[in-house]
Amino acid sequence: MTAGDHADKTSLEPVRRRVAQCQCGQLSISVPGEPLGVGICHCLACQRRTGSVFAALAVFAAPWEVVGEARDFWRTGDAGARFCFRFCPNCGTNLFHTEEGEQDTVSVAVGGFADPDFPPPQVSVYDCRRHGWLRLPDGVTAYPRDPQWA
Ligand SMILES: [Zn+2]
Ligand SMILES: [Zn+2]
Repeated sequence: MTAGDHADKTSLEPVRRRVAQCQCGQLSISVPGEPLGVGICHCLACQRRTGSVFAALAVFAAPWEVVGEARDFWRTGDAGARFCFRFCPNCGTNLFHTEEGEQDTVSVAVGGFADPDFPPPQVSVYDCRRHGWLRLPDGVTAYPRDPQWA
């Protein structure tokens, strides 16, 4: 991004951008506006890739900007869609992923924003894999599997 193009010229309101970064700071992604959706995923692959007991993801519309070097890991979801996970080769943080053939949205790890005031999740997917001790906040819609992303 160059100086001066951070404001939308058709509007007086500058578009808010958020930046998520990896643990070491080498890799970052800047995303525009508010997330299209925020969700948590309890699937076993997300448990393994994050090392946590669930993943928290925020979906943002293009355009996004990546700074730094990322490595890719491809995984095929239950419904056959292929997802490309990007992680920092230095510290290993899983920062964001995209779906094959999908150019318009990116899913970013909520923890990468290091912002406790980040909007809360609206959906919980793969709830069939949720750890028994984990309680969902009020207002979250739980799906036993993945209604849209898998
Ligand atoms: Zn890193
Ligand atoms: Zn998952």
